[in-house]
Amino acid sequence: MRLLVTGGAGYVGSHCVRELVRAGHEVVVLDDFSAGHRAAIDSNARWVDGDIADRALLDSLFPVEGFDGVLHFAAFLDVGESVREPLKYFRNNVAGSVVLLEAMRDHGVRRLVFSSTCATYGVPPGVPIVEDMPQVPINPYGRTKLAIEWALRDSAAAWGLGACALRYFNAAGAASDGAIGEDHHPESHLIPLVLQVALGQRPHIGIFGDDYPTPDGTCIRDYIHVEDLAAIHRIAIESQPPGLFRAYNVGTGVGCSVREVIDAARQVTGHPIPAVVSPRREGDPPQLFADPSKAKRELGWQAKFRDIRTVLQTAWRWHQAHPRGYREAAEG
Ligand code: UDP
Repeated sequence: MRLLVTGGAGYVGSHCVRELVRAGHEVVVLDDFSAGHRAAIDSNARWVDGDIADRALLDSLFPVEGFDGVLHFAAFLDVGESVREPLKYFRNNVAGSVVLLEAMRDHGVRRLVFSSTCATYGVPPGVPIVEDMPQVPINPYGRTKLAIEWALRDSAAAWGLGACALRYFNAAGAASDGAIGEDHHPESHLIPLVLQVALGQRPHIGIFGDDYPTPDGTCIRDYIHVEDLAAIHRIAIESQPPGLFRAYNVGTGVGCSVREVIDAARQVTGHPIPAVVSPRREGDPPQLFADPSKAKRELGWQAKFRDIRTVLQTAWRWHQAHPRGYREAAEG
């Protein structure tokens, strides 16, 4: 297939581009490089530096490229920033997606896979989370992703869009061959921060609360390997029929606490990784993990990385080889 990947220079997008290229698809990345990295883009994919909200750019690309489908990753994703600057998030994530959808409609492109999130569930009524639980996000970031899901559902009904929303849990890890990995600025995610402690770049990891109603008191999340995420994107775009909206939870189905992540990282790195309990972070639900059985049943997909240590091993390999992330690559 000829595929457009928005945000294909970002963390999940770049791993997905590799998966698509390896499967024989022809890929064009559209990224404004506000957060993505050129070095993360597979050399067999082409890229365009631009914004999804630039309708003139989309109008020049679509007729020439003749895309069969779009994988839409481009978005702002910092929850805290979304609370401080909600309109920045609504403009980029929602308004930008609407421009992309209008271009797809007008150029007759009827297949889309969308990066959604378990944040659309907010604080779920129970775990594991199933797809038909109420979606009541508790922050602007989650609300922008839910708003786009609604635009996809309504577009499926109105003009025949085929759309698959993949609701990720916690994307983690790096490419198994060490080629690409995770590099956010500033970094706020647990696993890269823990590995920065192991590299001696930080003195300790802060545990955001140890008084949650969980077995060890720390928050439980479902860490899904980025290559497993890439695989389900490929399966979703290859199998997406026009005119249908589908949504899947994308997780391992296994919850892992903050303390369990830190303990596993100690084993993998051999570093003591000092941890300091600090106050809860606002807006953190105690437990989020997926029931991924719908994706297994309907798409034949399930996570291959099922042990947090193997996820951490891939991330550790990347962080050791690239202690400054992509900056070395950019600086030659
Ligand atoms: N967390 C933590 N210390 C940190 C960063 C994160 O204890 O320095 C916790 C956070 O409260 C959450 C889990 O680790 O329970 C995963 O957080 P992350 O930011 O990686 O992903 P999120 O679940 O927010 O998408």
